[in-house]
Amino acid sequence: MHPPGADTVLVRHGDVGIKSGKVQSEMERRLRDNLAAALDARGVDAEVERRWSRLLVHADEETVDAATDAAADTFGVRSASPAVVVTPELDAVRTALADAASKLDVGGTFAVRARRADKDLPFTSEDVERQGGEAVWNVVDEPAVDLDDPDLTFHVEVRESDAFVFVEKRDGPGGLPLGSQSTVVALVSGGIDSPVATWEMMKRGSPVVPVYLDLGDYGGADHEARAMETVRTLAAFAPNFDMRVWKVPTGDVMDLLVEEVGAARMLAYRRFMFRVAEHVAREVDASGIVTGEAVGQKSSQTASNLGVTSQATDLPIHRPLLTMDKTAIVDRAREIGTFTDSTIPAGCNRIAPDFPETNATLEIVENAEPDDLFERAAAAIADAEVVSP
Ligand code: ATP
Ligand code: MG
Repeated sequence: MHPPGADTVLVRHGDVGIKSGKVQSEMERRLRDNLAAALDARGVDAEVERRWSRLLVHADEETVDAATDAAADTFGVRSASPAVVVTPELDAVRTALADAASKLDVGGTFAVRARRADKDLPFTSEDVERQGGEAVWNVVDEPAVDLDDPDLTFHVEVRESDAFVFVEKRDGPGGLPLGSQSTVVALVSGGIDSPVATWEMMKRGSPVVPVYLDLGDYGGADHEARAMETVRTLAAFAPNFDMRVWKVPTGDVMDLLVEEVGAARMLAYRRFMFRVAEHVAREVDASGIVTGEAVGQKSSQTASNLGVTSQATDLPIHRPLLTMDKTAIVDRAREIGTFTDSTIPAGCNRIAPDFPETNATLEIVENAEPDDLFERAAAAIADAEVVSP
């Protein structure tokens, strides 16, 4: 919802603001570039300007909502408000508020909140709130003020050269601008968890190279499609980054493990998987591996088993969902937009043994897994394809 005449988006960042001088300006520049790319990808003709510790998107009244949406989908953005810009004078602010109040549906209670960033202005924020409140009061049919919990809040932010009037703060994802951290590879199966984990890592600024392991006869026909669809959804959050998927054939290893390994089968497969990811990481110069694992979610993810599987690689394994319950992960997947694709029935054949090992030691797994498991991981990479999602 925006006031009439709104043509500018006020974009606030979160953790970027914690950084000191040089790092902060670098991150703000990156945020600006990423937001410009998001606008471009959505066909929104608008300019992004860095001003104070904010970004301003100069759009027009037709595009201001789409521009606000683009900002709200950009990592590093805490919130975005479509605003009308007037001169920093009480009269102008009053007129803008009256105009907004008469065009917007002020059905219930309201409040005016003001922030004065420039302390040299000849009025206080209380002046703006009092006089602005009066201006709204005069044009609303049955006015009712509630300063504690209003149904509608008119915000005024007064700066040296401009005053911004807005009624909405659309939440962004928060985090840090994509590209402000080093690249990681993400093991994306297309299930509910791994796309969420990948998104969380992107949210903290790491560009991601997705890796999908083709399970051969054990992955149903839609298994790959599901993974690709979810990556496509994630890639929409990163329009200026390459999110092509490394697709690695692993059907023969799957066959071998099902034939030869019993209780430790899934652990052996996970160790193989980490090795594959490590090879991809070396190819693309990535610093770590992301997975959708959470403590105790599956037998291969008990606290002790995570310890054993992690030893397959020297690279750090990032598990953003480590302590999350499934219901919270599902909620997140819905917000991000990956849930529907993740729940396509993939028709996988059962790989897990009937009585899986839940408390493995490295010795148990090493004795159970094929001697050439890691050589097979290196070999599988040679047959990898890099495909657009
Ligand atoms: P998800 O965890 O994505 O919901 P899942 O529950 O079917 O899928 P798990 O058995 O829990 O998968 O696997 C744990 C993690 O291993 C996944 O979160 C993912 O990071 C990775 N993984 C599993 N299977 C694959 C695969 N075929 N390709 C790439 N990564 C995979
Ligand atoms: Mg899982």
